[in-house]
Amino acid sequence: CGIVGYVGNRPALPILLEGLRRLEYRGYDSAGVAVVNHRLQVVKSQGRVEQLERLVASQGLEGRSGIGHTRWATHGAPSDHNAHPHTDCSGRFAVVHNGILDNFAELRKELEARGHRFRSDTDTEVVAHLLEEAWRGDLAAALREVTRRLRGSWALACVCTDQPDTLALARQDSPLVIGVGDGQYVAGSDVTPVLATTRRVLYLDNGEVARIDLRGVTIWDARGEVVGRSPVEVAWDA
Ligand code: GLU
Repeated sequence: CGIVGYVGNRPALPILLEGLRRLEYRGYDSAGVAVVNHRLQVVKSQGRVEQLERLVASQGLEGRSGIGHTRWATHGAPSDHNAHPHTDCSGRFAVVHNGILDNFAELRKELEARGHRFRSDTDTEVVAHLLEEAWRGDLAAALREVTRRLRGSWALACVCTDQPDTLALARQDSPLVIGVGDGQYVAGSDVTPVLATTRRVLYLDNGEVARIDLRGVTIWDARGEVVGRSPVEVAWDA
């Protein structure tokens, strides 16, 4: 029900957890985070963000990029293994998702026939496996290819161990905002997780995919054309 992402010059975990706390008002049944640092560290559980914080405290998740999620289950009961982020078989890709993928059942069948093993009952997990197949060295390009296969609604945020300082985002009928700070970027389902870092934001439109890395933000529209968009200033306090 809420997603958050971070790339920048500070440790990602505290920013992700604070972002999830700020998104709590949207309601949820599970929460999780993934932090990238050569390898992918994923911690997730059914229950409140408070519980997630206790879990991560014992694990020392270090890294300057990552994603987080609060889930409102639509496909698959609320449980630890259905909580986001979801990962692929190789454990290199992690995905968080808000929305509903209408064609996940046929995609899952196809992927299973090609040898992919699923670990959740969610619609979302297909995205992690599709990214693994679409990977040619660039996460945003892989996500653009994957979104062409999806039907339904999504706000997606993805990370990959092979591109550790990069976040890829996609939006279709679920909101997604990118906060543009000084050497750092915070993405969120709304501005509440962003405002602790910056007031300069970019709103993604339907069909768009974005790549965020330490050099900046690039946005593509549904036809694959690069979109020129400047951040706007958010005037109010959250
Ligand atoms: N459809 C996904 C799930 O059930 C995402 C739900 C959400 O938006 O939180 O896991």
